[in-house]
Amino acid sequence: MKLIKISATPLYWTATLQSRFQTHKKIPILLYHKITDVSEGIDAFWNVSPGLFSEQIEFLLENGFQVISLQSFYDTSQFKNNLPRSTVILTFDDGYANFYTNVYPVLCKYRLPATVFLTVQYTGTNSFYEWDRPLIAKKKEFEKEFRPLSWNQINEMKESGLITFGSHSMSHPHLGRLPDDKIVYELRESKRILEERLEQPILFFSYPGGSYAYGDVNKNTRRHLVECGYKLACTSRTGRNRISDDILSLKRIGISRHDDIPLFRAKLTGGCDWMGWAQFAFQKTFANVW
Ligand SMILES: [Zn+2]
Repeated sequence: MKLIKISATPLYWTATLQSRFQTHKKIPILLYHKITDVSEGIDAFWNVSPGLFSEQIEFLLENGFQVISLQSFYDTSQFKNNLPRSTVILTFDDGYANFYTNVYPVLCKYRLPATVFLTVQYTGTNSFYEWDRPLIAKKKEFEKEFRPLSWNQINEMKESGLITFGSHSMSHPHLGRLPDDKIVYELRESKRILEERLEQPILFFSYPGGSYAYGDVNKNTRRHLVECGYKLACTSRTGRNRISDDILSLKRIGISRHDDIPLFRAKLTGGCDWMGWAQFAFQKTFANVW
């Protein structure tokens, strides 16, 4: 991590230079999970503190980035519209209640759009994700931070017009490891329930796990997505997207608690796009661990 931090500025300059010669614009879709001060737990790497999150948003606004919605990206891809030069998209996986407490007020303050992907079986319940349970068992005070969003919170945010909701499946499985009928259930049932609760079409999906190496994203899951009526889907593969890229397997840039402004800036400009390959090789090697 230290090495990447030190190389953040050279990565940024190299990427900036490279982008001068690129004819196609590449759009970063940022991937956040928990926005919390909790720095413990097996996935704490992905916990971004509310302070750092606000700093990142202020950086975007002060440096001329335009935060657009996934819907705008989708419309642009369909109608071949033009996007402003520095655009960025905000997405949040897993539907934690800390989005409502720590992110939504910041987005409201600056009127910025974002998409939250909900795992329906957890939404509106007091259940915790499997990976959060060991820490919660030790420290009950973290329950509040790791709870899923309630339907009331979701409906309130939907009414604001800023927040879009998508499906992150019913139970957060690695889809590629399921038989076809279970994949269809995860896709169709989550869509049905969300549409009923939110009274609007649910067209966007985020693959749980989102990895090619683990088989979460493959031709079969993609085919089922189309058949179930999804129009756009996000993976966890690191990288930015051209407007002409496959709309059902978009890359994203995972934001971690170590992403201070120099590293954040490098990621936005493509300085860390190479990580997609490193990530694939790592996951392929340790595929059986998760
Ligand atoms: Zn997830």
